[in-house]
Amino acid sequence: MTYRIVIDGSLCSGFGTCAELAPDQFEVGPDGIALARVGESDDPAVLDAAAQCPMGAIAVFDEAGEQAA
Ligand code: SF4
Repeated sequence: MTYRIVIDGSLCSGFGTCAELAPDQFEVGPDGIALARVGESDDPAVLDAAAQCPMGAIAVFDEAGEQAA
């Protein structure tokens, strides 16, 4: 399964939980806002990162376009 990652930077508080849980897919940029390092990933860690984001700033969509997390 390939997941598409979307971050709403206006919601991100920059604590970096996503980058800790899925460092290959997320990083916190110099402005303190999370960035997706890749647009898509097959690593289920992206689901955990989205679920653990305290601000609900991460959405993950599956190959059918359904929101998976
Ligand atoms: S876990 Fe959420 S609030 Fe924290 S840095 Fe990542 S996107 Fe931003």
